Amino acid sequence: GPLTSPPSVNSTCPYCGVGCGVAVAPDGAGGAHVEGDKAHPANLGRLCSKGAALGETLGLGTRLLHPLMRAGDGPLARTDWDAALDRVASGLAAVIDRHGPGAVAFYLSGQLLTEDYYVANKLAKGFLGTAHVDTNSRLCMASSVAGHKRAFGSDTVPGCYEDLEAADLIVLVGSNAAFCHPVLFRRMEAARAKRGTRIVVIDPRGTETAAEADMVLPLAHGTDAILFSGLLVHLADAGRLDAAFLDRHTQGFPEALAAARALAPNATATARGCGLDAADVAAFFRLFAATEKAVTCYSQGVNQSAQGTDKVGAILNCHLATGRIGREGMGPFSLTGQPNAMGGREVGGLANQLAAHMGFSPAEVDLVRRFWSAPRMAEREGLKAVDMFAAIGRGEIRALWVMGTNPAVSLPRAGAVRAALEGLDLFVLSENVAANDTSACRPHVVLPAAAWGEKDGTVTNSERRISRQRAFLPLPGEVRHGWWPLAEVARRLGFGDAFAWTSPAAIFREHAALSGFENGGTRDFDISGLATLSDAAYDALKPVQWPVPADTAAGTARMFADGGFFTGDRRARFVVPAPVAPPQGAEGLPLLLNTGRLRDQWHTMTRTGLSPRLSSHEPAPFVAVHPDDAARLGLAHGGLARVTSAEGETVLEVRADPRQPAGTAFAPIHWSFANASHGPIGQVVQARTDPFSGQPDSKATPV
Ligand code: SF4
Repeated sequence: GPLTSPPSVNSTCPYCGVGCGVAVAPDGAGGAHVEGDKAHPANLGRLCSKGAALGETLGLGTRLLHPLMRAGDGPLARTDWDAALDRVASGLAAVIDRHGPGAVAFYLSGQLLTEDYYVANKLAKGFLGTAHVDTNSRLCMASSVAGHKRAFGSDTVPGCYEDLEAADLIVLVGSNAAFCHPVLFRRMEAARAKRGTRIVVIDPRGTETAAEADMVLPLAHGTDAILFSGLLVHLADAGRLDAAFLDRHTQGFPEALAAARALAPNATATARGCGLDAADVAAFFRLFAATEKAVTCYSQGVNQSAQGTDKVGAILNCHLATGRIGREGMGPFSLTGQPNAMGGREVGGLANQLAAHMGFSPAEVDLVRRFWSAPRMAEREGLKAVDMFAAIGRGEIRALWVMGTNPAVSLPRAGAVRAALEGLDLFVLSENVAANDTSACRPHVVLPAAAWGEKDGTVTNSERRISRQRAFLPLPGEVRHGWWPLAEVARRLGFGDAFAWTSPAAIFREHAALSGFENGGTRDFDISGLATLSDAAYDALKPVQWPVPADTAAGTARMFADGGFFTGDRRARFVVPAPVAPPQGAEGLPLLLNTGRLRDQWHTMTRTGLSPRLSSHEPAPFVAVHPDDAARLGLAHGGLARVTSAEGETVLEVRADPRQPAGTAFAPIHWSFANASHGPIGQVVQARTDPFSGQPDSKATPV
């Protein structure tokens, strides 16, 4: 055996947006021992069950190790990189020639590294001329992004994880953090043990997080904006407003307060609107008003909603009105679902963004065009995910490149997504597993991509912290890094000079330089202080919170305590939520279906499914209903139910669970055609979206 142990490599967990640091000791034979990185500020050594099992998910048994290509209607067959890349380049050129750049789209993933994301965006938006670049982050936090941009003028999370330990009150809205952000929830529990922090959970569903809370408000689905409007009124009436902050740093408060009074004039009316007990609502209002150090965390229960952006706005209103933002232990806090949802946004990974948090104003388009010397800039926003796949279904988008995600399972209306994928003129898939539901949809070219352990680049977690995800395994077979085939296709299309990087460090430097290009403090995302990192300094980069402006090395823990919002006049905007009726069941569809995560699985299980230990927690898919609904519908606990919506159906084992609110159902998102006999729950989920964010409402499908 070796005389010395291989050195430990510091990297990050590839699962949730907490972004925990890991210390990895490779065993030299393709495996590794993984433990929490005690020096990483996100987790200080802690890991949850998924992170702790990472060592069990290595191995090449399910991996795609070489390119595949399909000739005509034939099956996918092994090919070499040159042939595959030639086919992609010529296919893209042909579609653009025939139908224009708007017929090309990219669908990316919050699992991709920032460098991969940057290259895909640059190729699409600057050189192919299409803004149809969206990502599975659209399903994750798009409503928080839209809510932040409306209020702050920028996509900025104001605080940091340390605020959770400095808070006296943590309000969790639409968040099952105990399952979905476990290490952060442990930090909240540790704060409670140390300083008596109160934890309030606002969620229709009786979750594991709710079971640990000091106070639970099981509000009716979709009524969050009513609750936070009532809270705004209470804060005003109780004399808890921060008049100086309102005066100096905000706009629109009188209108927002008047609208809130009309919607929820007092605790009793609020309780009626939310289906809650009036005494509980009043107690929550008093607690929030009396506790200055309050953090409000929100996640998919808020975001995945046809009114998600307004819900975020109603929460932000309460923090802006009290000046509780960007100060220690205070602030609104979006808990991002995916490991690099934020990094993807930083490079423009949404169809309504350009790179470096810029939008599509003529000045911003021109700025990015000049920085890239781009020959064919997209000048208007592209289609968001649900609309993008609808356009594919209608034949308006003819070429699609999917990277590192499984839309045939995870998108709403998944049955229609599968049909749409099969009709493309060019369907390219960059993937690291040999088979999944999306690769079953007849791609023309499948490119083998690096997996966790081989990937090398950066990610950004929920608190704006950029961390290195480092490789500790060699690239197996003919696998390449995610950015490489994009650059090679660009070279084949005649853009080689602009895509000539040879390392992720070089891509990162360009990305960092763009963030500072003609910035002058006008844009929140500025990491130009990292634009001149040497390769060695990039490799050794310690986790750092953006912004990191030029001539600084340290990051920024908190923002907006003294205003400085990124609206034209530097003032935050209050929003008036639109009145939206809560969703109702339809004729013959008596339940509202809510979908979400389980503790020990991640997305469509392509990695966590490899660990028997993780799979033993919940070995099979299920649908949970209240026992009264089970009795009413003739469903037996442990029996099977056909779950039908206007979109499609599947069959799931019934779990009669008294924690499930009457009139609702819950099903986990993780299972696919590969491991659920009747197909994924995604084929049942509706494609109704929020009007601002385009995020699908996957919490309330009538079934
Ligand atoms: Fe990984 Fe999230 Fe668990 Fe941390 S909390 S170990 S980032 S899954």
